[in-house]
Amino acid sequence: MELIDILLKKLNKNAVVTEIAKDRNPFKVLISTIISARTKDEVTEEVSKKLFKEVRDVDDLLNIDEEKLANLIYPAGFYKTKAKNLKKLAKILKENYDGKVPDSLEELLKLPGVGRKTANLVITLAFNKDGICVDTHVHRICNRWEIVDTETPEETEFELRKKLPKKYWKVINNLLVVFGREICSPKPKCNKCFEEIKEKCPYYEKIKH
Ligand code: SF4
Repeated sequence: MELIDILLKKLNKNAVVTEIAKDRNPFKVLISTIISARTKDEVTEEVSKKLFKEVRDVDDLLNIDEEKLANLIYPAGFYKTKAKNLKKLAKILKENYDGKVPDSLEELLKLPGVGRKTANLVITLAFNKDGICVDTHVHRICNRWEIVDTETPEETEFELRKKLPKKYWKVINNLLVVFGREICSPKPKCNKCFEEIKEKCPYYEKIKH
């Protein structure tokens, strides 16, 4: 976990946290994470801001017309399907969870449009519980650093649950998302990377010649 420690020291103070993440409101974290699937981060931020001006809680989501909701979350990817799922979600939250977002991974995974990435993000960000949110950045970098050797983000999450000490669980997503966007992107910008990381990076060792 040496590379994670180095990165934590380098980025901790400067890590960018989104407005939604800062808010820590379970409803907003859940909805904006569902919207973020197959959607650029900037678009998710913009769409979420627009949406939460009109839809502040489960009752608002229940009452809004599906077409109006789809228009509000446009241009997020698959906005029509997401609007349909969000309407179903509102009904389930109202009927089965007293209008509240559940605070366990198992219950969150039963909700429409909620996969492991979303469920883990909600329990860590909104409820401050242990979870590991693995998106494509976390998956890619953990493989490059040979912390795991996996094919899918889901496999990465299960491997990390075995290997990663708990103190890193809540921080790894934000840390590697920031690093993955700016430096260790799909086409890595190794020339911009921190020297201490470059020296120990197994992937850089393979590609530098
Ligand atoms: Fe990623 Fe390159 Fe830095 Fe390794 S050296 S962490 S591959 S950017």
